[in-house]
Amino acid sequence: MTAWRPAGAHYPVAVVGGGQAGLSVSHCLRERGIEHIVLERNRVGHEWRERRWDSFCLVTPNWQCRLPGFPYRGDDPDGFMVRDEIVRYLEDYVAFFRPPLVEGVAVTGLRRSADGVFELTTGEGEFTADQVVVATGPYHTPSVPRMAERLPAGVEQIHSSRYRSPGQLPDGGVLVVGTGQSGCQIAEDLHLAGRQVHLAVGSAPRVARFYRGRDCVAWLDDMGHYARGIDEFDDAAAVRMRVNHYVTGRDGGRDIDLRAFARDGMRLYGRLTGIDGTRLEFADDLKTNLDRADAVAESIKDSIDAHIAARGVQAPDEPRYTPVWEPSEQAAPLDLETSGITSVVWSTGFTRDHRWVETPAFDGRGYPMHWRGVTSTPGLYFLGLPWQYSWGSGRFEAVGRDAEFLADHIEASRRLADVCGTLTGAPSELAAALPIG
Ligand SMILES: Cc1cc2nc3c(=O)[nH]c(=O)nc-3n(C[C@H](O)[C@H](O)[C@H](O)COP(=O)(O)OP(=O)(O)OC[C@H]3O[C@@H](n4cnc5c(N)ncnc54)[C@H](O)[C@@H]3O)c2cc1C
Repeated sequence: MTAWRPAGAHYPVAVVGGGQAGLSVSHCLRERGIEHIVLERNRVGHEWRERRWDSFCLVTPNWQCRLPGFPYRGDDPDGFMVRDEIVRYLEDYVAFFRPPLVEGVAVTGLRRSADGVFELTTGEGEFTADQVVVATGPYHTPSVPRMAERLPAGVEQIHSSRYRSPGQLPDGGVLVVGTGQSGCQIAEDLHLAGRQVHLAVGSAPRVARFYRGRDCVAWLDDMGHYARGIDEFDDAAAVRMRVNHYVTGRDGGRDIDLRAFARDGMRLYGRLTGIDGTRLEFADDLKTNLDRADAVAESIKDSIDAHIAARGVQAPDEPRYTPVWEPSEQAAPLDLETSGITSVVWSTGFTRDHRWVETPAFDGRGYPMHWRGVTSTPGLYFLGLPWQYSWGSGRFEAVGRDAEFLADHIEASRRLADVCGTLTGAPSELAAALPIG
């Protein structure tokens, strides 16, 4: 840990957030000899430690954990670290390069003065920096639909970020709303514990865990999928908003097949559309959602087949998926009391909260306007956003690559400032020569 200088200090670079993104860019800055400070409002690993459930494990294989200078070196590269191992990986990273990290200090305000210096407000006073990397994560405020307020008072409700284990919920049935990564995995966790699960199924796609002898992630990596930059997509804005495919790394990794859960007793419904007293209403889209999720999984297999054929790769044949269950009824309302539901887990995602960043760097939806994390405000950067540049930007897979890119940019900006005076004073033709492409 570093000695936190008193208020009024000035740093060449301030990094806000000490998760994997903040630590990655810190390592890259250290390698370039650039003085900086990393401020973390909680503890390193906070998100993994405090906002994941007890049985949580990575969905991405361990070999994709490649933080700069510190790739996964354990004996299970094809496995999936469990929550405490992920926290330890980050703690070991800190021990490995000893970043200038201050824990327990939140940045509550960030402004850029007229002379181009950033002013940061913390609970311990203000300080300034020439350049700032915002690495505060992609998932800030738990998102729960307002209809939650209409649930009867006796029904316990929590957001997925507060779910820990089945035993935390009162006896009785559990309604899980949402089938992104969290919803599917929490539904499975409860199902395996013998709880009666009711699952409101959304439109998230799914991917098979293994196909033709390997993890689909390994095939997709071979196919260059994870190297594709956002600029290779015509619909970049839509790509950035894509929902993750559901699958699990639990017990060595397996598919999440909601139809199999239904066959084994889980009750599936379409999207939850309304709550009226004890009555829950659902859209009539369960069949569509299940069919679409399977179609995506099968289309990924199609592309793996094509890759295998084109490259002449030796791989075992594998039969395709056949649905093991079909919804038989039209969507019908569900009564909380007669169905015995006593709790609800809202697995409905998160919203971003960058309100403390008081610079004109955002679009109409509050999304940072950037190219590979470089914003139009000189010296202001973001790191760790989903699809910041590629699929792995918001994950362990590519946050390091994005951090290297930003560190290069920060270094070039400093050289430019040395030549031209200040970052703001940079002539536009020199600024255009910065390595942002
Ligand atoms: C349920 C779930 C499952 C996931 N599974 C995987 C997976 O299998 N594989 C994978 O690679 N990724 C996965 N991810 C995505 C990603 O790896 C994590 O979200 C990861 O935590 C992102 O790291 P980060 O450093 O960008 O952000 P965070 O881990 O969120 O770190 C940001 C840090 O900034 C701090 N902070 C925030 N605001 C301030 C402030 N104003 N001042 C100071 N500090 C601040 C926070 O305390 C936090 O420690 C998953 C995410 C979720 C939610």
